[in-house]
Parts: sequence; C-alpha cells; structure tokens
Amino acid sequence: MSIRTNYFSWTSVDIVALHDGPVIDPDRRDQVENDWAIKTCSEFVKDVFPGLEPDPCIVEHCIYTFPLPHSRGSSHGQTRIIRKAYTQTIFAHMMGEAYPMWSKLETETGILLQRTTGILAMGVNKKGYVAEVKNALTSNGMKYTELNSKDLHNLYDISMYPDSSVIMDPEGGILKSDTALQTYQNQFIKHGGVILDKTELFSLEPGEIITLHTNRGAYVARSVILCLGPWAGRFLNKLGVQFPLKAVRISVGYFKAKIPDQYEVGKFLPFIYDTDSAHFYGIPSYEYPGLVKVALHDGPVIDPDRRDQVENDWAIKTCSEFVKDVFPGLEPDPCIVEHCIYTKTPDEHFVLDKHPLHPNLIIGAGFSGHGFKLAPIVGKILGNLAMGKASTYDLSQFRIDRFQRKASL
Ligand SMILES: Cc1cc2nc3c(=O)[nH]c(=O)nc-3n(C[C@H](O)[C@H](O)[C@H](O)COP(=O)(O)OP(=O)(O)OC[C@H]3O[C@@H](n4cnc5c(N)ncnc54)[C@H](O)[C@@H]3O)c2cc1C
Repeated sequence: MSIRTNYFSWTSVDIVALHDGPVIDPDRRDQVENDWAIKTCSEFVKDVFPGLEPDPCIVEHCIYTFPLPHSRGSSHGQTRIIRKAYTQTIFAHMMGEAYPMWSKLETETGILLQRTTGILAMGVNKKGYVAEVKNALTSNGMKYTELNSKDLHNLYDISMYPDSSVIMDPEGGILKSDTALQTYQNQFIKHGGVILDKTELFSLEPGEIITLHTNRGAYVARSVILCLGPWAGRFLNKLGVQFPLKAVRISVGYFKAKIPDQYEVGKFLPFIYDTDSAHFYGIPSYEYPGLVKVALHDGPVIDPDRRDQVENDWAIKTCSEFVKDVFPGLEPDPCIVEHCIYTKTPDEHFVLDKHPLHPNLIIGAGFSGHGFKLAPIVGKILGNLAMGKASTYDLSQFRIDRFQRKASL
C-alpha cells in the first residue's frame, strides 16, 4: 500500500477526453493546472452520455519512496499469519469478508497465496485473552476447537505455562506476503493502475484538486489515499492531523528445530501466545528449512529513517526465554534475526478516515502489526471513502476523533 491518486477517466472502459489542454513543456507535463479540462469533460459527459456518472473516477497512481520490492517498511517478508481468532469482534467480522477476497485474487491470477493450517490461540487465563477470542468468534458465528495442555504436549510438543488455555481457529493459516504484495501490484497495473516507485512525496496542497509535490515533479489528483506506514505520523502532522502513533522496531527470530522436520507446516501450527508479561506469535518452518519463526509483539520505539540506531537486544532475549520455556524441541538461540516495523495506535485499531478538513484526503494508518491479512478489506474501505461511498462497517472505531473522545472522558 502507498499513496493512491485518482486521475481522470470515467470507468475502466469508458474513457472520454477533451481534444485540447494546457500548453506544456513535455518534460514537465504534470506541473500544470488542468482542472478546466477535467471540468469541460465532465460537462460534456453530463450533456451527452446520460448513462455515465459525470464525475471521473479511475486511473489510479500508487507512489512509493523506495524501489520495489523493498524491505524498509512493514510489508516485506515471506509470511504473515491469517486468522479470524481475534479478541476484537470487528476484526473477526472483517476477516469474514477478507478471506473470500484473498481467494478471489488467487482464482483470478492462478497464484496460491494462502495455506490453511489452523492456528493456535493460547493465553494465561488471568489475562482473559482466549476467553475474549472465543467470544469474538462465537458472536460472529465462527467455529473453533477446544484443546488442552495435554493435547498441545502430545500433538505439537508445546509446554504451556501453568493456568493457560488454548483454542484452535481451523481457518487460520499462513499468507505468502511477498507473493501477495507482488500479485496485488501486478493486478493493479493490469487493471490500468500506474506504480511510481523511487518517488518520494515531499508535500501536498489540499483543495478540490490536490497537488502532490514529489522528487519527480508535481501531480494533481481529485482524491488521495495516504498509507504511509511508519512515516505516517510525521507526514500527517504537517497536514495538521495529530493522533498517537508509534513506529516500533520488531525483531523476528528464526529458531532451529532439534529434530529436523518436527516443526514443518502440516506437523506444527502458527500460534499466538498471550503470556503473563508479553504477547508472542510464531509460524512453522516455511521460509527457512528447519527454522521456526517466533517474534515478540513489541519492541523499541524508533525513527523509521534511523531504525538501526537502536538497542533491541532485550526483545530477542525475551523471545529466547519464551522459546526455552514453551518449545523444548527448539534451540533457544535464534539462527537468524530479521527486522520489520509496526506502526501502533494505543488501542491497536487502525485509522481509516478522512482528513478532518479535507474530505478528499483519505488516511489509512496505524495497522499495529496485524494489518496484512485485512489488506483487501482495508483497501475497499479506503477506496469507498475516496469515492464518497458508504461503508457496510461501523467505522467509528477507526476514526481519528476516537482519541480525542477518549482523552476528554
Ligand atoms: C514482523 C512483522 C510481522 C507481522 N505479522 C503480521 C501477521 O502475521 N499478520 C498480519 O495480518 N499482519 C502482520 N504484520 C503487519 C502488517 O505487515 C502491516 O500492518 C502492514 O504490512 C502495514 O502496511 P502499510 O502499507 O501500512 O505500511 P508499509 O508496508 O510500510 O507501506 C508504507 C509505504 O509508504 C511509503 N511511503 C512512506 N512515506 C512516503 C512518502 N513520503 N512518499 C512516498 N512513499 C512513502 C513507504 O516507502 C512504504 O512503501 C506484521 C508486521 C511486521 C513488521
């Protein structure tokens, strides 16, 4: 995801153009005001084609700072967990729509993007995590399987902490994230979208027509969706929007199985474990043969442009302790450590909203380390906001003003 700008054409098949326009320097074609040409076209469409909506809607641009594919943000890496097992009812509900959207992308492209394995949701009882997941699944009419510590020991060689519970979400599994991202980008181009990488957005001028200033010149757009990942807070501040966002560096450890093959997909499951002191997750060996991915859902707060100037040994040590306690079949020191960034809001809900003063500036931010699986539905919600369409979801939980509402209570 990045910055998307809607240009002028009427639907993906009906393209209408005025046989005139502003005089330009061909090397600076986008640095010119041409709103009058779009308006003239709109008038023409209104008069002559009653079957077309008079306001243009398509031709989308996606702008990225770094050359693609890149590993400087939050979306790189080969795998992500996909699940309905959430504590928040709204996300379990949204996954009910996201799953078929992922499947549709697979059918359209013939590319396999997900592997259904089931996932384990474990937690110490006093924190209530598993009870909340059960509640969210039940209230959405979704299924789960009850297991106990003996099952986990026998089936997966997992030693749960005392007084813990576990359920299995049978629809959970692994999303092939790198492949998914590339597949979406290819489909975007196939359907007429334009991707501009190595293009940094420096600033933008809001208005009925938004002007975007980049290192490649200026662009104009009727609406813009800003999905800036860890850079969102800084950029939005410049646009007068402030809400609490933290960029957090996450260290992902890959731990070696003492018995080769024991933790392969098919024999072991992705998991989440909410312990007394922390929240962990993991994925069976899939990316690197014989290595299980385990991460702490936390890390040091960083400046995304200086991500490596921070000490985060404690995050890896915490992970190693957890592996030692819970997975006797894994070596407790990671063979590989990789890094990625979360952009967290205090309640770990996303921000999916319009700019408070400029309704054609749409904001998607704060995906809080769990946004990948929801990307299709997030894209749909943001696209609808950009086109002024109503959402089928109650978006109040994703609004920017929820932070002010909470602060004033
Ligand atoms: C280690 C890790 C594990 C995770 N595990 C899971 C999981 O199991 N399941 C799950 O669902 N989610 C998971 N997530 C979360 C998920 O990956 C993220 O929520 C999601 O990828 C966030 O995408 P994004 O588009 O917000 O950010 P990004 O991927 O960072 O994209 C933002 C883009 O905006 C560009 N940009 C920023 N500023 C500018 C500018 N001024 N001009 C031009 N371009 C700009 C950046 O270059 C970047 O390409 C995980 C995340 C991490 C880090």
